Amino acid sequence: MNLECSDNQCQNARVAGGRIQDIIIVGGGTAGWMAAANLVKTMGQSGVRIRLVESDEIPTVGVGEATIPPIMDFIHQLGIDEDELIREIKATFKLGIGYRDWTRPGDFYFHPFGPTGFGLGSVSFPSYWLKMFLKGRAARLEEYSIQATAAAQGKFMRPCHAPNTPLNKITYALHFDASLFVRYLRNFAVARGAVRIEGKVQEVHLRPEDGFICSISLENGRTVSADLFIDCTGFRGLLIERALETGFEDWSRWLPCNRALVVQTTHATPPAPYTLVTARDAGWQWRIPLQHRVGNGHVYASAFQNDNEAVDVLRASIEGEPVANPIRIDFTPGRRRKFWVKNCVALGLAAGFLEPLEATSIHLIQRGIAMLLKFFPDRSFERADIERYNKVLEVEFGRVRDFLLMHYTHTEREGAFWEYCRHIPLTDTLQEKIDLFRSHGRILRDDAETFPVQSWLYVMIGQNIVPRRHDPLTDALDARKIEDKLDEIRITVKKCAETMPAHNAFMDTHGLRQHEPA
Ligand SMILES: Cc1cc2nc3c(=O)[nH]c(=O)nc-3n(C[C@H](O)[C@H](O)[C@H](O)COP(=O)(O)OP(=O)(O)OC[C@H]3O[C@@H](n4cnc5c(N)ncnc54)[C@H](O)[C@@H]3O)c2cc1C
Repeated sequence: MNLECSDNQCQNARVAGGRIQDIIIVGGGTAGWMAAANLVKTMGQSGVRIRLVESDEIPTVGVGEATIPPIMDFIHQLGIDEDELIREIKATFKLGIGYRDWTRPGDFYFHPFGPTGFGLGSVSFPSYWLKMFLKGRAARLEEYSIQATAAAQGKFMRPCHAPNTPLNKITYALHFDASLFVRYLRNFAVARGAVRIEGKVQEVHLRPEDGFICSISLENGRTVSADLFIDCTGFRGLLIERALETGFEDWSRWLPCNRALVVQTTHATPPAPYTLVTARDAGWQWRIPLQHRVGNGHVYASAFQNDNEAVDVLRASIEGEPVANPIRIDFTPGRRRKFWVKNCVALGLAAGFLEPLEATSIHLIQRGIAMLLKFFPDRSFERADIERYNKVLEVEFGRVRDFLLMHYTHTEREGAFWEYCRHIPLTDTLQEKIDLFRSHGRILRDDAETFPVQSWLYVMIGQNIVPRRHDPLTDALDARKIEDKLDEIRITVKKCAETMPAHNAFMDTHGLRQHEPA
């Protein structure tokens, strides 16, 4: 697959230094077209040529339908009209994730997006809520969140100008049809100058003197060269792995699931504004409601359940009528040892995949693109830029892994799989986070982390990780005043949620739903 290049022009390219003139993205899934759309928007006017090679013969992974709030920044930064996008990709709104039967059968907790409450002087909401919670004088955390309260009632609206109310801060993401999202981004990028090349990559040519990629050749005989290559070829990692042999860090010792069965169904109920996740004997199941159908998936550990059993679990628990047969997707949780090597940057599944529980994969693509722009190289490909890029993403992948791991290790569920999960050794970074939280309810967070402090709070409390003592700083506040403040926040949230429309009603009022012709 990787051949040495004999093209003189190409061998001189790096020596000459200077601006990157030519970028080739290989792979036209979500990662490829997100990168193309963003790069063409950012540098299309500057004469940089952006081309994307994809093969109609190799399908995209076809999943990836739930997102987290930063996706809205991605959409807005591209200048995309949000309403138009929602109609085109048949999206619904997402206020968070509901965890059913997760910590134990019958239990339900919600991981909402967005901030909850507000600080009192220098004391944060988590600190004073935890103090009262430990004394048994606070309501459930969800009751202080507008997202969680609205989601429980199937309600939604965008934030509006309502000073001193949580309606100001409603934070949301989208559920969407992955193939429609790809189509939308492709049209967006091509309309702004990105060039699509149809073809199956057959060979990757490396420069003999330094191993940089200089060109790729396609099955149809065409050869394309570039200064910078972006590998978006999915799990294959055609450039980053097969050609550059970067290596993969297998994280199966922390993340136990390695298979997913995916099936789409019709709606049995109006689309909820959240992802529902339900624990199963050897993994978990998702329900992602879109406008026109529901995405369902059963994620499981093949060491604890065979495929036939997994299909039975999925079939027995889906609502609505299946619109296709289940598809199985195998994966190894982990990441590439380096995301950027020489003149090749891997994005999407080519960079790594942890698992879909908290819907972080599209976000990590977004972060990869943002960091590439931040450390955008010239043809000298300075080592310092590459090392910093890799460092930032290593931290980000690592903290997402920790967040996911915590969901598995702290449950009371019975059965061989969950028993195994309880004994998975924690990473040092997660152990430190949990130790700090248990000591005084403090939440440690690095700058380059995906999830905000309050996400950690909701999931730690949801998973029954409880501090031994409260934060001593809260003792500076009068306990009665804290209780009054908590009551005020909870009552305001309740009243605001009452004024919100049902999710479907909001979509109809704003003309966001595509109605199929009768
Ligand atoms: C079960 C499951 C559930 C998921 N759920 C979520 C979720 O809810 N939220 C989320 O954020 N993420 C989720 N993900 C991850 C998400 O699907 C991916 O991050 C996203 O789709 C990006 O995929 P990709 O573009 O990297 O790869 P792919 O979609 O696999 O695209 C690869 C592209 O490379 C091309 N290609 C490959 N080989 C060649 C070749 N030789 N020549 C030319 N072209 C080639 C293919 O044609 C294709 O266009 C999930 C993943 C899985 C497995």
